[in-house]
Amino acid sequence: MKGITSLLFSSILGVCFSQVDLAKKYSSYINEEDLRKNLTIIASDEYAGRETGKIGQKMTAEFLTAYFKKLGCSFAPGMSGYEQFFDVIESTPGGTLSLSGLNLNFKTDFIYYSCKSLTKLDNLPVYHADQLSVIGDIPCYVAHNLRSLEVRKEVSALRKELPGNVKGIILVSNKYDTLYEYLEHYVTTKTMYLADEKKKEEFPILFVKESSLESLKKKSNGFLIGKGKITKSMTRPVFKLNAELNTQEERLTSSNVLAYIEGSDPVLSKEVVVVTAHYDHIGVDHGVVYNGADDDGTGTVALLEMAEAFMEAKKNGEGPKRSILIMPVSGEEKGLLGSDYYSSHPAIPLENTVADLNIDMIGRNDIGHEKDTNYIYIIGSNMLSNELHDVNEKANERYTRLKLDYKFNSLSDPNQFYYRSDHYNFAKHNIPSIFYFSGVHEDYHQPTDDVEKIIFPKVEKVAKLVFFTAWELADRSKRITLNR
Ligand SMILES: [Zn+2]
Repeated sequence: MKGITSLLFSSILGVCFSQVDLAKKYSSYINEEDLRKNLTIIASDEYAGRETGKIGQKMTAEFLTAYFKKLGCSFAPGMSGYEQFFDVIESTPGGTLSLSGLNLNFKTDFIYYSCKSLTKLDNLPVYHADQLSVIGDIPCYVAHNLRSLEVRKEVSALRKELPGNVKGIILVSNKYDTLYEYLEHYVTTKTMYLADEKKKEEFPILFVKESSLESLKKKSNGFLIGKGKITKSMTRPVFKLNAELNTQEERLTSSNVLAYIEGSDPVLSKEVVVVTAHYDHIGVDHGVVYNGADDDGTGTVALLEMAEAFMEAKKNGEGPKRSILIMPVSGEEKGLLGSDYYSSHPAIPLENTVADLNIDMIGRNDIGHEKDTNYIYIIGSNMLSNELHDVNEKANERYTRLKLDYKFNSLSDPNQFYYRSDHYNFAKHNIPSIFYFSGVHEDYHQPTDDVEKIIFPKVEKVAKLVFFTAWELADRSKRITLNR
């Protein structure tokens, strides 16, 4: 049965790949020499780790823009340039926390996370629940007994027990210094969010050093001691607190770069196949540049090669029927911000967007594949459209013959890769998407993610697979459909 089905598929898809020779012909413009040349530029120290909103990101955007211009790519419909600008807010954790007049200092007395900025919380009533004290909408939980240092897990478990009106928690800890050491990286790193993002409902979590609260504790009759369960019957306030926290915020501008290659069919060219990769990385830390050659320099330069190949086809009047949008995005490392912005401000309506093929890190081998270069992880291909999955499989079977590894293609995979790159901002709008990925390695998010370590023949091969898949999606007469 299986054999017959796949035989049938091959013959159907065989017919669909009618412009086989053209796709193959133009794929030759994707080559490792160009990939190496371009990656050596954008992953050099001069590009300062391409951090969103900073000089390196702007230099990279300029480089990409000049490249697309040289190739002759069009601006996306309705745009007057290649760049789609968006503003982000960079928030620097810090400030002082005032609890009923008692001033506490960031780091030495308290830290917080899971909120972008906390401003003013006036007159918070304090409730008692068993032996546990809860401050109004902000319950105050005594954290003496956190069972382990898996704090974030503990907190999210605790959150599930809270009544619905509780909007945040304060954890008071007599093991604050250990906690601080453990959480330092998470709580002291600057964060970014889209300036036009509707303030999401946030759930602030504050950790306060118990010994910093001695005076409050006396005043409140030891209310900060307890370890009971929070119940939904907490109604009677017994104490009031004011909390005020000031953080520093700065508005910065970043961009997505859009290169549009209009399809050859007067009707179908209204539809578009989007190909994305993030051109931002994590910048400079303590004077050390994080070059991000693999993450995601490889995806970025792969897009340039694909743009060249599609443009050559178009110039000769041999391009596919639907349009192609090649889109290096930024803000990925800060929380998929650029693709999020695009998906709420699309240049081509989302209903006319056939698919997103996203490339993020395709130039290395991960642990378990040290000597086996000929593989790539495929994530998300069948989540929304089995046809997308089949097109990719057939393109690989026919042209690139990589080992397609579906190990991470699961919503329940503990790594949660399906949610961790830019394709997700398309998938969440029901647009079929594939995430191409060669896995994490010892240089992931390290200053040693350098161009010398990139396996260029692999980048070329994966870029070609994405190109062939994009070509077929753009050129087949019938648009791929969503699963029921
Ligand atoms: Zn990445």
